[in-house]
Amino acid sequence: MPGSGSSPCAACKLLRRRCAKDCVFAPHFPPQEPQKFAYVHKIFGASNINKMLQELPFHQRGDAVSSIVYEAKARLRDPVYGCVGAISSLQQQVAQLQSQLAVAQAQNLCMRMHQAAMASTIVANTEVSPLDSAESSDENQQYKHVTSGFEPFGIAEALLS
Ligand SMILES: [Zn+2]
Repeated sequence: MPGSGSSPCAACKLLRRRCAKDCVFAPHFPPQEPQKFAYVHKIFGASNINKMLQELPFHQRGDAVSSIVYEAKARLRDPVYGCVGAISSLQQQVAQLQSQLAVAQAQNLCMRMHQAAMASTIVANTEVSPLDSAESSDENQQYKHVTSGFEPFGIAEALLS
């Protein structure tokens, strides 16, 4: 239907001009969606959009129109920040989620170190029976020394602070 003549594209209709066969707007602003061109015309102006599209190869114009329409709508909705408002609120969300992730990772590390400490305490307590010789009770002392020097919560707290 673009530039077919019978029905002008949304741009030409709004600009009250004849829609030529090679109209640059026609492939992207069909008459069924008049608001799309109204938004971008109000924010950027028809001649600027025309120039922007002319400077691009045809296969990129569709994406350019989508982003221009998005920007124009955002600017109409939020005259102060436009789409920058959406970008900065998403950046804040990313920062919040990153700090939540860091806390969760530190808690996970803390739990794993706690489990490791428990496991080595159980090994130390079960490997030596009361009937063992003095030699193996020295070994038991070594285990106790290793496990008592192990402070998983101190490390995890340092990570959390
Ligand atoms: Zn047209």
